[in-house]
Amino acid sequence: MKKELQDKLFEKYPKVFRQRDLPMQQTCMCWGITCGDGWYNILDVMCAEIQHHLEHNASKDEGTISVEATQVKEKYGGLRFYYNGGDDLIRGLVCMAEGLSYCTCEECGSPGTQNDESWISTLCDSCRENIVETRKRSVEEAAQRFVEDHETALQMLAHPIDEAIMGQEPEYEEEIELYKTFGGD
Ligand SMILES: [Zn+2]
Repeated sequence: MKKELQDKLFEKYPKVFRQRDLPMQQTCMCWGITCGDGWYNILDVMCAEIQHHLEHNASKDEGTISVEATQVKEKYGGLRFYYNGGDDLIRGLVCMAEGLSYCTCEECGSPGTQNDESWISTLCDSCRENIVETRKRSVEEAAQRFVEDHETALQMLAHPIDEAIMGQEPEYEEEIELYKTFGGD
């Protein structure tokens, strides 16, 4: 999730996200909210209801109930909100929020659907198209970079060794051995 959206949630619901500043040995919240921006509203509404419940209902009858998020992320195309504490109502709110994520585009928040590929995600049609395009492009770019780097590496490897062999310089002894074993071109 974009940092500015995440910070907005952290600011609005400091109690729920109290663990955000704890070290990684103690909480997964140190990684932040690791899902797309499209689920911001779901989290916002859910946290507002949790906070309201904590402030107005839970403290009256049942003593102090707290809710602390321990990890918020995407998994198998759905929102996961792991937390300590809570009561039945909180469990219901979290369950509903997680359920809503399965029909909400994780990127833009429009109505979304799940795909049936090995990498499961919940997206609207246009975000899915964009993501497939972006991924295809980055694979092509990576392949292109690999070819270029490989060519550069071969050139760098070949030249000093050619010179070293001509001059029989002793500091290139190891390289010369390698060159003899694997060849220069
Ligand atoms: Zn979308």
